[in-house]
Amino acid sequence: MASGDALSELARRLMEWYSANRREFPWRVGMSSEWQAALTAILLRKTRAETVAKHYREILSALETPERALSLGVEGIERLLRPLGLHRTRARQIHALARAWGSGSPELPGLGPYARALIECLARRRLVPVLDVNTVRVVKRVLGAENAEEAVRRVVERAGTCEANLALMDFAALVCRARRPRCGACPLRDLCVQAASSEPPSRAQSV
Ligand code: SF4
Repeated sequence: MASGDALSELARRLMEWYSANRREFPWRVGMSSEWQAALTAILLRKTRAETVAKHYREILSALETPERALSLGVEGIERLLRPLGLHRTRARQIHALARAWGSGSPELPGLGPYARALIECLARRRLVPVLDVNTVRVVKRVLGAENAEEAVRRVVERAGTCEANLALMDFAALVCRARRPRCGACPLRDLCVQAASSEPPSRAQSV
């Protein structure tokens, strides 16, 4: 794991890059409730953020509250989510979640570790690591980290904001891409274990 100074420098440069290059998505402004954050997490799973963004407002308006989701029923939710794909699975998850919402159970259906972390980040602004294939890829490459969760947590803590998760996601989408990472234009290059290794960056491992 990198030293504290290197982590601080990484976090500083990442957030500087993010402030100039961040992607704008509707769920990144004015997240009004944990229900909205939970829905967002379900919609984003295995789906490109740009695709979700196209349909987001329509879906949110129809599923604004758990009660609205229950009144639509599984078939109504399915129709609404059809443009995103995985609509049958997601409709069942959202309907089950709406029924369980408010029960206080830690086992709310449809919410795995990724969704719970995203809710903590988007709705409660807590300094938690959000682990997905993209955030993990970046920290593994830059830090050579074996414990990706710990690495993302430390980057977020050094940045002092849960937005560092979003910065890692955007950085993964625009610079440290799964295939053909843009190492030549990367502000983290001199800190990056992957770039310093003998393996050419263009063959960097995808995760
Ligand atoms: S130098 Fe290349 S592999 Fe390293 S963080 Fe930048 S884009 Fe990713």
